Amino acid sequence: MSSTAITDIATLVTNDPSLGQGSPLGLIQDAAVVIEDDRVVWTGESSKAPATDNRVDAGGRTVLPGFVDSHSHLVFAGDRTAEFNARMSGRPYHAGGIRTTVAATRAASDGELEANLTRYLSEALRQGTTTFETKSGYGLTVADEARALRIAAAHTDEVTYLGAHIVSPDYADDPAGYVALVTGEMLDACAPYARWIDVFCEKGAFDGDQARAILTAGKAKGLHPRVHANQLSHGPGVQLAVELDAASADHCTHLTAADIDALASGRTVATLLPGAEFSTRAQWPDARRLLDAGVTVALSTDCNPGSSFTSSVAFCIALAVRDMGMTPDEAVWSATAGGAAALRRTDIGRLAPGAYADLTLLDAPSHVHLAYRPGVPLVTGVWRRGTRIL
Ligand SMILES: [Zn+2]
Repeated sequence: MSSTAITDIATLVTNDPSLGQGSPLGLIQDAAVVIEDDRVVWTGESSKAPATDNRVDAGGRTVLPGFVDSHSHLVFAGDRTAEFNARMSGRPYHAGGIRTTVAATRAASDGELEANLTRYLSEALRQGTTTFETKSGYGLTVADEARALRIAAAHTDEVTYLGAHIVSPDYADDPAGYVALVTGEMLDACAPYARWIDVFCEKGAFDGDQARAILTAGKAKGLHPRVHANQLSHGPGVQLAVELDAASADHCTHLTAADIDALASGRTVATLLPGAEFSTRAQWPDARRLLDAGVTVALSTDCNPGSSFTSSVAFCIALAVRDMGMTPDEAVWSATAGGAAALRRTDIGRLAPGAYADLTLLDAPSHVHLAYRPGVPLVTGVWRRGTRIL
């Protein structure tokens, strides 16, 4: 057993609401945090830190919980630069969208998919993300979906079966047949690798009845629901998510008052993904309206090659503060403790005794700099499970 104290922290974000200044961030100034093996065992004033085997001087910088990126799509192959370039240049572009990535992913070897995944995971880790969820959804056959989940499960516990991303092109004339596959043979093959089941509930993807059938079948197999809901238009996704006690309704860009009431009445987290609105020049989700209604909000990247190709949670924090009405404190909370809530986890997203020692060191005197200095690589240290990896 080995212990390490990180001392001389100007601002320590603990996300422990019982600590400091009445902020949900549980801020401690002139702080220290003590790690033993893979866990946090002590936080407090730096001058009172107990003796430890090792000591790291934070030099007046900020320490916060590692980001919890609760929504990404990282098992894929191929590239959609031309599609993005055309969209941002105002030129028409008639490619297949998700179907383009499906074709490239099916054609890729296991090794290529895994190399791509680990590349983006290490990219995210260097930017302070210590927990990530990722999904299937670019295979859309029994074998390709199960393969994606098997590869993802080798790298994270937070694996989501998204056979219901779009109706497979192989079933273009038989969507009911595809729902039967997703809830039958494909689910049987995928469930052993996944914790979660997800569905893209949207016009052109899956309607409310189809989404309910898919999520209910997944629950019967022991998977817990999360939903791509109300991204492009009003629809039944958010209320279905709350009804089925989904851990999260993701996107939440187009919400009615009834949708917000539903979220406020349950424990389903609203996960906002501003990288998608940025990358598609779409309307921002109204975080302020959700927060004022008492809804728990998470912030995540939605990292995927089509609609949000960023692995930077810090960038999403800056967007949320600039364009979605969140305060810097709220955005930092949503990207750490909020992400943990969206994964129904209490062992991550906070720095309190008993939590995993997943920490990010910022070269800044306060966490506010994540929004105040957008685009600047402030992360200068990352610990995951008590081990320093940057
Ligand atoms: Zn997504």
